[in-house]
Order: sequence, then C-alpha cells, then structure tokens
Amino acid sequence: MIRDWLTKKFTLLIIPEANRQVRRLRLPAFWLYAAPGIAGIVLAASALLAANHAALLHSRDALAADASAAQDALSATVAAKDAEIAKLQDEVVRLSQEAEAFAAKMAELRALEREILALSGEDDVPTAEAARADGDAVSVLSANVGGEFVPVDADDALRLSEETRDAIAAMNGEAERLENALQEALKEAERVAYLRRITPSIYPTTSTQITSFFGYRKDPFTRKSAYHRGIDFGGSVGDPIFATADGTVSRTGYERAMGNYIYVSHGNGLETVYMHLSKTLVKKGQKVKKGEKIGLLGSTGRSTGPHLHYEVHKNGAAINPKPYIQHQEG
Ligand SMILES: [Zn+2]
Repeated sequence: MIRDWLTKKFTLLIIPEANRQVRRLRLPAFWLYAAPGIAGIVLAASALLAANHAALLHSRDALAADASAAQDALSATVAAKDAEIAKLQDEVVRLSQEAEAFAAKMAELRALEREILALSGEDDVPTAEAARADGDAVSVLSANVGGEFVPVDADDALRLSEETRDAIAAMNGEAERLENALQEALKEAERVAYLRRITPSIYPTTSTQITSFFGYRKDPFTRKSAYHRGIDFGGSVGDPIFATADGTVSRTGYERAMGNYIYVSHGNGLETVYMHLSKTLVKKGQKVKKGEKIGLLGSTGRSTGPHLHYEVHKNGAAINPKPYIQHQEG
C-alpha cells in the first residue's frame, strides 16, 4: 500500500499563454501530500525567524537608546564640568583683578601716609624704598592679569590663583603695617594740632594796626629811651580782646602801670599778657580757647589813649610777640 503510494505518480500540466508549448511535470503522488506539510513547516519556521528577528531588532534599538542616553548623560556631565572650570577660571581672573585694584589702593594709601608724615614733619618712611615697594606690589600682578589675558588651561588658572593668593597675603601684611603707621600718623597729627592750638598765632584785637613795636623806644611819658616789653595795638574802647591760643587764665587784676590785665598760660613755657583793658571777662583758673573773647580794649593804667599792650612770655621772660602773630589763621 505505502510502496504503491510512493510509486504512484501524478501529472502537473503547466499551460502558458497562447502559442507556447504546454509543459508537463510528472511527480510522485507522495509530493501531493508532503508539499502542504513542508510548506507549513517552512511557514512556521519563517514566522519563528521573523519573530526572533523582530525581538532582536527591538533589543538592538533598546541598547542603542541606552547607549545614546548614557552618551547624553556623559556629555551633560562633561559640559557641566567645563562650565564649572570656566567659572572657576573666571573667578580666579576676577580675584586677581580685585587683588590688583587692592594693590593700587594700597599704593595710594602709602602715598597718603607719606604726605601725612611729611606734614607732621616726621618722614620716617624712606621714599625710595616705599616707591620700590609700591612698584613691586603692582608689577607682580600687572605681569599676570590685564584686559586681554584669559587663562587658557588649568595650569594658567592654578598659577594665577597661587600668585593672587601670595599677593593678597603680602598685602594683608602691608595693610597691617599701614594701619599701625596711620595710627601713629594720626597721633602725630593730633599732637601737631594740639601744639598749634596752644601756640599764640593770631591778632589779639580786631584791629591789626600796630602803634608801638617790641624793643627800645622813647617812652611816651618821659620821652627817654626805654625798653618796650610788648606790642601795642590801636583800637577803640570796648573793642573785643581775644586769647591768642588755648590756655588757662593764670592771673587777672588791676595795677597802676598795667591797668586791668589778664595773664593766660598756654603750657609749653608760653604765657600771653593783655593790658590796659576797660573790662576783664574771665576769671583766674578759667580755660579759654584760641580766639575766645576774654576782655574789652581800654586805656586803664599807664596809657596815653585806647590801645592793647600785648606781651608774650617764654619761660617767664618777655620775648618779641611778632613771630607769634605772623601766621594769620582763618
Ligand atoms: Zn605797650
């Protein structure tokens, strides 16, 4: 029966279009039954391969997507790092510029310090050395920063940051020295200002008319040579009389020769005396300021007419008041 089935043949006629020869295929009957099965297997295998292929394609896409995401993340990280580095480099440049500005400020302060010391008459700072120090502080930075300079790599930025740090450390030391020096200068300026306040330097009267100078002259009463111990200022009775420096009233009173008088002690061995007053406005022990009204001009005592007799005493001896009224203030 099987053998019969295997040997049994069937004929397949292939009929093309007209005018062509008809082709005849003789096939074993076996194929008639096997062909659909084989076709089924081939179809199933194809379907399986297709499914497999689809799965492979899918996982390849997934892998590619993963790789792309990882690449994106890496790019983002690198970009962030680059941005961070750029920011740090900008920061270093900014700091170095600030340090440079600071150095310039310090140089200005040192110049100011020298001016102050020169005014106080105490030029302790050797100018050449200070000028060199100024130059150094500025040149250290000028060599490394400037309008066109931008650090191109990490080494440059690192070097710049180290130099900036050193420059700032140096300037901190300099600032401390300067602070001390300025405090000394302030003390000195205060001492000078105090000396100015206690040193007679202004006219004791509103009138600047001098009617008699210090030294030998003919006495207005006896017409004989006599020693004039002060300076006489013209004026009218009642004109204000000013203390010529800060001080303390050491004596007031009336004497036949001096008339109404005031002595003001200024410390430093100096004393001023005001005579022939019509009125005394201060009391012994009272503190007075330079320019303060202490009495009124008059003609009391040994006087030929309204005037102020003004004396300056140095360590108890009358000296020429002229140098003490040379420098008019205000
Ligand atoms: Zn006089």
